[in-house]
Amino acid sequence: MAAKILDGKVLSAEIREEVRKRVEKMKACGVTPGLAVILVGDDPASEIYVRNKGKGCEETGMLSRTIRMESSTTQEQLEAAIQQLNEDPAIHGILVQLPLPGHLDENAALAKILPEKDVDGFHLVNAGHLMTGTEGVLPCTPKGALYMIKSTGETLSGREAVVIGRSNIVGKPMAMLLLQENCTVTVCHSRTKDLAEHTRRADILVAAVGKAGFVTADMVKPGAIVIDVGINRVDGKVCGDVDFEKVREKAGWITPVPGGVGKMTIAMLLSNTADAAERTLER
Ligand code: NAD
Repeated sequence: MAAKILDGKVLSAEIREEVRKRVEKMKACGVTPGLAVILVGDDPASEIYVRNKGKGCEETGMLSRTIRMESSTTQEQLEAAIQQLNEDPAIHGILVQLPLPGHLDENAALAKILPEKDVDGFHLVNAGHLMTGTEGVLPCTPKGALYMIKSTGETLSGREAVVIGRSNIVGKPMAMLLLQENCTVTVCHSRTKDLAEHTRRADILVAAVGKAGFVTADMVKPGAIVIDVGINRVDGKVCGDVDFEKVREKAGWITPVPGGVGKMTIAMLLSNTADAAERTLER
């Protein structure tokens, strides 16, 4: 039987609607949540992401500000722009669109964002919160992927979860979140031997590799929840890391690309921004 589709459009609409209601309430108390995105250079993919983030803000009633900086921007100029936003009470969330041009130090820039305004959840303070299971800002993509996994209604505790990819923004935080759900988690990466041996055990399989068609049907356990984080372009078409048509015949649940995790990432960014604005109201 073909897998059930975990529809990012439907699930992200739920979150956006919930955020819209929260924004409405905050506005009634005189606070409009504000998200600022710093875009350095003119990477076309980043342009699309930034535009979609702006659209999401508009739909949910938030203030959106894009700070465009030349690709020749210096580290000092970038950090000064971050500092300005840190001090701006109208801005509750700050996001530096990655990747930055090669001459800029991403980690140093991210470290300058106030942890409470770090709506991407990349600051070391928030990474530490995730590691220790204490309250902090969760990175949007793994948070969105977990929402999709939970939407299946399946029990997660005690299940085998395999994450392919160990990046700081997807693979590692995804593994931590699944661990917090009491899954038995395996993290696979480019040096993993016998990858399929691991993936075939997975009740929950998350692919965050960046290679089109990387996960094939023979790597998937029948009935598994398969979450495809990858975004790849093949002949101008967007596709994920999973061989969708074949894997859907074997999995129990599967996310499409496009229309899957990507939609959730933006919804969680809006949700994190609403959280940040609510925290200022509480203070
Ligand atoms: P990355 O390049 O930082 O990490 C890729 C990971 O894949 C690495 O940890 C590497 O060890 C692993 N890998 C590479 N080759 C492998 C192999 N042969 N076997 C096993 N593991 C292998 O990428 P990232 O930033 O983690 O992103 C991964 C993918 O997810 C990309 O396609 C990216 O565009 C996409 N992405 C999507 C969203 C979204 O919102 N849907 C958000 C972030 C990233």
